Amino acid sequence: MTSSEKLFAQAKELIPGGVNSPVRACLSVGADPLFIESASGSHIKTVDGTELLDFIMSWGPMLLGYAQPDVNKAACDAAAKGSSFGAPCALEVEMARAVVDAVPSMDMVRMVSSGTEATMSALRLARGYTGRSKVVKFVGNYHGHSDSFLASAGSGLATLSIPGTPGVPEETVKHTLLAPYNDLAAVRELFAKHGDEIAAVIVEPCAGNMGLVLPAEGFLEGLRAVTTEYGALLIFDEVITGFRVAFGGAGSRFGIEPDLTTLGKIIGGGYPVGAYGGKREVMDHIAPVGPVYQAGTLSGNPVAMAAGLKTLELLSKADYAGLEKRTAQLVDELRAIFAEKSIPVCINTIASIFTLFFSEQPVTNFASSQQADCERYSSFYRQMRAAGINLAPSGFECSFTSFAHTEEDYDKFLSAVRKVQF
Ligand code: PMP
Repeated sequence: MTSSEKLFAQAKELIPGGVNSPVRACLSVGADPLFIESASGSHIKTVDGTELLDFIMSWGPMLLGYAQPDVNKAACDAAAKGSSFGAPCALEVEMARAVVDAVPSMDMVRMVSSGTEATMSALRLARGYTGRSKVVKFVGNYHGHSDSFLASAGSGLATLSIPGTPGVPEETVKHTLLAPYNDLAAVRELFAKHGDEIAAVIVEPCAGNMGLVLPAEGFLEGLRAVTTEYGALLIFDEVITGFRVAFGGAGSRFGIEPDLTTLGKIIGGGYPVGAYGGKREVMDHIAPVGPVYQAGTLSGNPVAMAAGLKTLELLSKADYAGLEKRTAQLVDELRAIFAEKSIPVCINTIASIFTLFFSEQPVTNFASSQQADCERYSSFYRQMRAAGINLAPSGFECSFTSFAHTEEDYDKFLSAVRKVQF
């Protein structure tokens, strides 16, 4: 038995499924999870001493690479002065300034401790602000695990084929209206029927939880137009895309100003952070200024703020265009390898994100993502892992490159792909 296997056996006795977040269990790819001892740059090391080249990057946060020394130092320096005060500190103000300066649509921002909290709070604010109850979400988009969003969601729910979940009252999800991603006509139909009841449309501007699916030409613009027309708020869930598809996120990249934006992952530099923000007029409805309640014991805690702030400072000087170009080149090389092997693939990519679907069809929404060959992905995943490459343990997640990945890493990745047997 390996050390990972031993730990997993113990974990299963103590933690449901042996994991603290479902996809980590690697169930859908027929593997056991690897227990990680440490990580640095683009590599992780398991408790068995095996080093793997990694393209999960903690599901997105580690755009600068694991254990980035300056980020570590900032966090350690902050911790030495006290890890939580439950009272305001200067780092929160600096962090808010950094985020608001970077994201064009944000006048104000509130820090929370996870992406789930960010989206849940943004929806509550949208409801409180508009006095309406319904929310439009897209099939296969994932906005964390709060009740309103657990209807036809992506991520682990897509991986495990769970359309909804027990424990969420029907009275709650009846306010969640669903539309296929990239289907503006369906959204317009929902507004035609329920226009005066819809508080918000929430969307992943580039969907990352059914694998990467890019917005069709005019889709995001159309959402901006229809929400404005009906007096509903547009929420961009940028928990994945924020500070990744561009320093200012998808809103800045696509030139669209949502009313609210949710952030997570990268802004915490690897620590538990989320945030939601937007126009002053809307944000002023949050307590203690306004009546919409939201709070958090560890919100804005100094260690997470210091790590996030240092991450944003480093990213503000980073070569996003260079990383995007290198990732696009990697994807081209991948396409060429699969063409040579006569294996049909659709590889969606933007910036430092890509998803490889074993599919003959373009993947443009949840239905088309589900056409991809999961068995083939599982076999690919297992062979790559055996070759020392760690990919997402599900065909419906994103792979991430980072500023820590090197030419040697990309060569190693491609040469492992060449050796995979289909
Ligand atoms: N929104 C999106 C788009 C996400 O991808 C995720 C997590 N993958 C969340 C929200 C929830 O974030 P967290 O896991 O930090 O609660």
